[in-house]
Amino acid sequence: MNEYDSSTMASLLSSQYQMVRSPEDADLIIVNTCSIRHKAEHKLYSLIGRFKGYKKKRPGLRIAVSGCVAQQEGERLFKRMPYLDLVFGPHRLPQLLQELEQGAENLLDTAMHEDFKIPSVYRKDGCPDPVRGFVTIMQGCNNFCTYCIVPYVRGREISRSAMDILHEIGDLVELGVRDITLLGQNVNSYGKGAGDVVGFAQLLRMIDKEYPGIRLRFTTSHPKDISREVMECFGSLDTLCEHLHLPVQAGSNKVLKRMNRHYTREDYLEKVHFLRQVSPEIALTTDLICGFPGETHKDFLDTLSLVEEVRYHQAFAFKYSPRPGTAAARFACQVDDGTKSQRLTLLLGLLNRIGFQEMRNLEGTVQEVLVERVHSGQPGMLQGRTRGNHVVNFPGVPEMVGSFLDVEIVRACNHSLVGRLSEAVDPAREMRGKMAGQSVLKEDVSYEDSSNVCACDNP
Ligand code: SF4
Repeated sequence: MNEYDSSTMASLLSSQYQMVRSPEDADLIIVNTCSIRHKAEHKLYSLIGRFKGYKKKRPGLRIAVSGCVAQQEGERLFKRMPYLDLVFGPHRLPQLLQELEQGAENLLDTAMHEDFKIPSVYRKDGCPDPVRGFVTIMQGCNNFCTYCIVPYVRGREISRSAMDILHEIGDLVELGVRDITLLGQNVNSYGKGAGDVVGFAQLLRMIDKEYPGIRLRFTTSHPKDISREVMECFGSLDTLCEHLHLPVQAGSNKVLKRMNRHYTREDYLEKVHFLRQVSPEIALTTDLICGFPGETHKDFLDTLSLVEEVRYHQAFAFKYSPRPGTAAARFACQVDDGTKSQRLTLLLGLLNRIGFQEMRNLEGTVQEVLVERVHSGQPGMLQGRTRGNHVVNFPGVPEMVGSFLDVEIVRACNHSLVGRLSEAVDPAREMRGKMAGQSVLKEDVSYEDSSNVCACDNP
C-alpha cells in the first residue's frame, strides 16, 4: 500500500519533477512512512538525519515526510527535526509544494479532509511496473484492532466509485499490465456506507466481465468481513487468482478477543474450509503477531496448532510492537522481549517448514506463469509468478516478459520455485500476454537443464 501511495505521489508530481537516482541529487525528498511497527518509525529518524547533511550542499533542497508517521506525529516532527519543510497526509501534495515555493516554512497538513477523493494515478504515460499494477478501491478502516494505528492515522473507510476503479484498471490494461491487485485496508468492506458504489463481490464480477484477460488479486481482507459471496468468487471468476492473504494474527480465542478482531479461531477455520471447498488449489498467506499482551504459552501453542491446520504458503510474522495511542499499548501484562523473540523463532521455524512443504507439493506440476522480468542475478533466467502468487525462476528470453506461459516446476526453494518451459506454449495463454501474434516456443529458448539451478534469493 505504501508503494502504491509513493507511486501516486510520483504520478501527481510527474509534470513538475523527474526522478533522480540518488537523494544527493534531489531538489525534493519525500519520505513516505509506515508506523505499523516501531522499527519502521525508527528508520525515518536515521534517514532524515542523513538527508539533513544534503541541505548544506543544496540549500534549495526540500525535505518532506508523508504517511502514517506524519499523521501520527504531526507538529512533533518539526520540533525534533526543525529542518523539515513539509509534513503531510496523503492529500494536496502539489498545492503544498506550491505554498513552499511561495515562501511557506515548516508546513503541516495532516488533517483528514472529508471531501477527499482517491485520485487516479495511472496516466497513459506510465506505471512503475510493466506487468503488475495496484488499484486502490477503498481507504481507511473502521475496525479498531487494539494493536493498530491505522484507523487513527488513515481515518474511516471511504470507498471509491466502481466506475473510477474500472477506468483505472482500463488504463493499466492499456499499458500492458496483466496482474492487478485491488488495495484497501479492508477491501471486504468495500461499498459499505457509500451511496454510489456496489458491494465487493459485485465489483469483482464487474471487473471479471470487463477485463477477462487479466489476473485479479486483492488485499487486505479482514476475516470477519469476507462474505460467502466473495469467497464463492474464487470458484466462479476466471480472473480471480487462487491466492488469498487472510490475516489471522493469533490462534487463541482469548488473544483474538483482546485484539478486538471479532472472530474466533473456529470462525476463521470454517472460512478456510469453505474457501478450499470452492477453490481447492487456493494458496493462503497470513499475518501473525507473537507476544501480544497477555499471550500465555498455551495461547502461543494455539497459534502454532492453527498454523499446522491451515498450512500457509507464506506468512508475515512479527513480535508485538506497542504503538503509541493504541489500546493494547496500555494493556497490563506486556510480554517480555526475550519471550517474544523465542516464540517468534519457533513460529518462523514452523512457518518455513510448512511453506517449504507446500512449495514442494508443486514440484512436477505445470503452472500458468505470468513473466514479470528478466532475473537480475541469473543471466538467461526469467522471473514470473503463478496464479497462487509463487515466484518462479526459469530459463527464457527477454521477449517473453509480459506473457502467460506454461511452466513445469522442477524444484522448490524456500521462497521461490525453479521451472522450465512446458512442452509447448498454450496459444490461448500466449494471446493473453503482450506478445499476442508472435510465436514463442520452447525451441526458441536455449538453456541447460534447470533442475539444479536455484535462482531464488534464499537458496
Ligand atoms: S482491520 Fe487492519 S487496518 Fe483495520 S484496525 Fe485492524 S489491523 Fe488495523
